[in-house]
Amino acid sequence: MSDCIFCRIIRRELPGKIVHEDETVTAIEDIRPQAPVHLLVLPKAHIETLGAVKPEDEALIGKLFSVAAKLARERGLESRGYRTVVNNGSGAGQTVYHLHVHLLGGRVFHWPPG
Ligand code: AMP
Ligand code: ZN
Repeated sequence: MSDCIFCRIIRRELPGKIVHEDETVTAIEDIRPQAPVHLLVLPKAHIETLGAVKPEDEALIGKLFSVAAKLARERGLESRGYRTVVNNGSGAGQTVYHLHVHLLGGRVFHWPPG
């Protein structure tokens, strides 16, 4: 059991706006949204980064993206498009070391990202 901030939100020891929950995945609203819709899709298991994913986690990683797509659909983001992002390591902007997929939508996103 980890004491990381996302594990504690998943266990409801810290407040968080939970928008999806099933046996293996929790999704929350980002506390500092970077777009009109900014959700974080989290595995309930504490996996620090993509580099720590084990072969037995592969289905779970796929599920993070199918939950993100479901949430995007529910919020009507499909027609305008939306972005899913996984930051890995400090150089890429990762600040919370519990793997998460950012789901961003409701505005235009440019490429390449900053
Ligand atoms: P990253 O920088 O990719 O590791 O993303 C971490 C994200 O978690 C950032 O977008 C933060 O705004 C968000 N965040 C940090 N603390 C909380 C919290 N207590 N509840 C919800 N989102 C959080
Ligand atoms: Zn954690």
